[in-house]
Amino acid sequence: MYGAGDVRVQDVPDPVLREPTDAIVRVLRSCICGSDLWPYQSMPPSERGRRMGHEFLGVVEDTGAEVAGFSAGDLVVAPFVWSDGTCDFCREGLQTSCRHGGQWGGELDGGQGEAVRVPQAQGTLVKLPAGQDEALLASLLTLSDVLCTGHHAATKAGVGAHTTVTVIGDGAVGLCGVLAARRLGAERIVLMGHHKDRTDLGREFGATDVIAERGDEGIELVRDLTGGDGTHTVLECVGTSAAIDMALGVVRDGGVVSRVGAAQYTEVPMDFGTFFRNVTLTGGVAPARAYIGELMPEILDGSIQPGRVFDATIGLEEVPGGYRAMAERQALKVLIRP
Ligand SMILES: [Zn+2]
Repeated sequence: MYGAGDVRVQDVPDPVLREPTDAIVRVLRSCICGSDLWPYQSMPPSERGRRMGHEFLGVVEDTGAEVAGFSAGDLVVAPFVWSDGTCDFCREGLQTSCRHGGQWGGELDGGQGEAVRVPQAQGTLVKLPAGQDEALLASLLTLSDVLCTGHHAATKAGVGAHTTVTVIGDGAVGLCGVLAARRLGAERIVLMGHHKDRTDLGREFGATDVIAERGDEGIELVRDLTGGDGTHTVLECVGTSAAIDMALGVVRDGGVVSRVGAAQYTEVPMDFGTFFRNVTLTGGVAPARAYIGELMPEILDGSIQPGRVFDATIGLEEVPGGYRAMAERQALKVLIRP
């Protein structure tokens, strides 16, 4: 990406092992993230550009001398940051704060390409005991980010059988938030979104109610559904100040707002009113690596199909058009087959 609206597909040198902790992965499936749309809309022009993509699965081609447990030919998925798997934060399940971790893209390889040098491969990659079935690969790819991010939102909120849930946002993360809340036992799940095809999928994922209205009108409708109180938990899956305002508007007194939308705001109105209602604000970037082991078996046995969030598939050459389609809301989430 060379600036807002400026995505180019270019040939670069093949990645090679640089550190003994590296692996090289040939990308089988990748995708464009809703969070890639923020720089797509606002990145200042750059001469060097920035490599893109932080969600991918593929086949191991080579491993450094210190990478144990992986060999050429293994099918693996990478979470959206890399991490060593051994530091104190990693052991606490917060791989996004890894002391030796980092993010894909920029000057390093991104997932939107043919191959990636994976730093800290042993701590980062997860082997996928699966064949290359198309639908299964799409669902497994969501372990990189959106499924784990939706699950993180629900987990941090404390969603369970006795909590009502509002999910704000009908993008891929919001829909995965619905799926995660259902999976954790929630019976009442209100999805706030106004793209009918997306909220229809949300209903299939477990949403019991859909509210298309936004702002104060939307808040009132959620409150009407819940006896005037709002829901115990709110998963904020957009990242705008309008979304966080709605979240605080629909949360029940004593409830939890869990935010996983990449925050585009600098202030949250945690004022005296919110204080008096005992509202908790939690959430943040999802340590996807911590959740893959728990969620993968349910994809493999077919009990969840998060890959249904992909509604378009393109090749590498079509990636600039894929960004455009997502930015113009013509596609929910674009799958890339290099
Ligand atoms: Zn670490």
